[in-house]
Amino acid sequence: MALIDPHSCADSVQPRTRHVVLNLTVDFAAKRLEGDATLVLSGPSAGPLDLDAKGLEIRSVTTGTGAAVPFSLGPSDPILGERLRVELPPGTEAVTVRYATSPGAAALQWLSPEQTAGRKQPFLFSQCQAIHARSMVPLQDTARIRVTYDAAVTVPDGLVAVMSAGPDGVRPGAAPGTTTFLFRMPQPIPTYLIALAVGSLEGRDLSPRSRVWAEPEVVDASAWEFAGIEEMIVKAEGLFGPYDWDRYDMIVLPPSFPYGGMENPRMTFLTPTLLAGDRSLVDVVAHELAHSWTGNLVTNATNEDFWLNEGFTVWAERRILETIHGPEAAVLGWAIGQKALDESVERFGAGSPLTRLKTDLKGIDPDEAFSSVPYEKGARFVALLERTAGRAAFDRFLRSYMDTFRFTSISTEEFLAFLDEKLPGVSTMVGAKEWFYEAGMPANARAASNAGLALSRTGWPLWIPPARRPASSRGASAPAEVPCPSNGFRLAASPRDGRASGEGQNEGPPGAQGAGGPEAQGSGRAQNRMIRPAEVSNWFR
Ligand SMILES: [Zn+2]
Repeated sequence: MALIDPHSCADSVQPRTRHVVLNLTVDFAAKRLEGDATLVLSGPSAGPLDLDAKGLEIRSVTTGTGAAVPFSLGPSDPILGERLRVELPPGTEAVTVRYATSPGAAALQWLSPEQTAGRKQPFLFSQCQAIHARSMVPLQDTARIRVTYDAAVTVPDGLVAVMSAGPDGVRPGAAPGTTTFLFRMPQPIPTYLIALAVGSLEGRDLSPRSRVWAEPEVVDASAWEFAGIEEMIVKAEGLFGPYDWDRYDMIVLPPSFPYGGMENPRMTFLTPTLLAGDRSLVDVVAHELAHSWTGNLVTNATNEDFWLNEGFTVWAERRILETIHGPEAAVLGWAIGQKALDESVERFGAGSPLTRLKTDLKGIDPDEAFSSVPYEKGARFVALLERTAGRAAFDRFLRSYMDTFRFTSISTEEFLAFLDEKLPGVSTMVGAKEWFYEAGMPANARAASNAGLALSRTGWPLWIPPARRPASSRGASAPAEVPCPSNGFRLAASPRDGRASGEGQNEGPPGAQGAGGPEAQGSGRAQNRMIRPAEVSNWFR
C-alpha cells in the first residue's frame, strides 16, 4: 500500500477510476450541487477504495446493481479534506455515490445577480486546480489518475451550463422549470480539469471549432476580441502538432473570476479584463491555448512536478508569440517573467525548497506554494534544453515527448529518463539535477535581452519597436511612456499592428463600451499595446 500523491488518498494497490458519470442539479438558493457521481473502475474490483472528499454530504453508496456499499468518512484535514473509504463487494465494476456539496465548497464560486454583468441572474463557476475537485465530486483527486467523464447538469430554466467537455444535448429537466445540459468528455483528463460554469450565457462561433461564451451583455464584445483565435490555434499546431481536443471554446466569466485564465480543456475560462476593446490583451490566451499541448495533454503527476506543466507551457506560449509577433516580442515575455521570478525567489528566500523545480509538498497546501518558480524557472530550464540541443533537435524531442506521454501524467523523474533516452548527454550538460533538486537559480540561467527592451518607470520591462526607439538610447534608457490605467505600464504597438499609425481607431467591438469596467476604458489605447505585469502572469494558471 502506498499513496501515489501527497495530496490524495488514492492508493497504489487499489482500483483506479477510469470514467466518471455526473448527474447534478444546481441549487442556487442553497448554494449546493446535489446528485450523484458514478465512478467506473478499470476492472472488476473488491475491497477498500479510498476517495478524496472535502465537505461533501455523502448520502449513500451503491453498486451498479443498486446494492448498498458500506462506506466511512475519515477525519477532516484542513488541506486534504476527508478520506471517503468505500468497501467494494467482489466483482464491483462501478460505484455510485449520492451526495451534496457544501455551500462553502472550495471549488465552487456562487455569484449573486449583482455580481454579474447582467445583474439579473446568479452565476456559478468552478476552479478545481489545485486540489479542489474533491469539494465538488468524490473521486481519486490526483492528476495521476486520469478520467473521462459524462455529465448531466440540471439548472433553472433561462440559465445555461457549460463544462470542460463536449456538449451532448439539452433536454427538459425532471422537475418543472428546469433544463438539463448533457456533456461528454472522451479524452482522459486529470481531475483538476473538471470544470463547470452556469449562468445567463450566450455563445458566438469564432471558427468551425471555436466558440466564445459570455453573458449576453458582453458576448459580442467577447466575440470581437477573440475573433483571431483560429489563427493562433493554427500557429500552435504548426509548432506542436495537431490540436487533440476537437474543440477550443472559451468562456468569459464575470469580473469576480479570481484568475486571468484557467486552461480547462475544451473550455478555457477567462477574465473579462481581457476585453480591452482593441484586441491588445488577446495574446494572453496563448498561454491557456499552449496548455492544450504542454499541460493538459502531458500533465504533471502531482503538484510536486507542477513545473512540467507550467514551465513547458510558459516556454510554449513564448514560442507561439514569437511565431506571431517575432523574436523581440518573445524576449519581452522572458524579461517580464524574469522580474516575476526574481520577486518569487526573493519572497521565498533563495535557499527555500519552494524555489526548486521538484518540490516536496507533503503537508503543504499547493495553493500556498504557488509562485512564478514552476512557471519561469521551469520555462528557463526548457529554453536551456532547447539552446543546448539546438532548436530543430529539441522540436523533434518535444513532438516525441508529447506522442509518448499524450493523455498521461508524469513525474520529473520520468521526464528525466525520457530526456536521457532521446537526447543523451543533454541533462548532464545543463545540470538538470541542480535545476530540479536545488534551491535558487543555477549559474547557467540566462536572462534574455535585446536592443528593444527598456524598463518602465514602475520597473517593469517594456519593448520599443525599432521605429520608435530614440536614436540616442537604443534601449539603454527608459523612453517616454504613457501611464496605463490598468496595470501601470505599456508596450508600444507591435510592428505588425496597423494601429500604430492610427489606422482603425474607430473600429471597435459592438457593445464594448462599459463592457470591461474602468480598466478597459483607457484613452489612446490604439496607440499602445499593454502587456500584463508579472503578478498577472501568476494569475494565469
Ligand atoms: Zn498555465
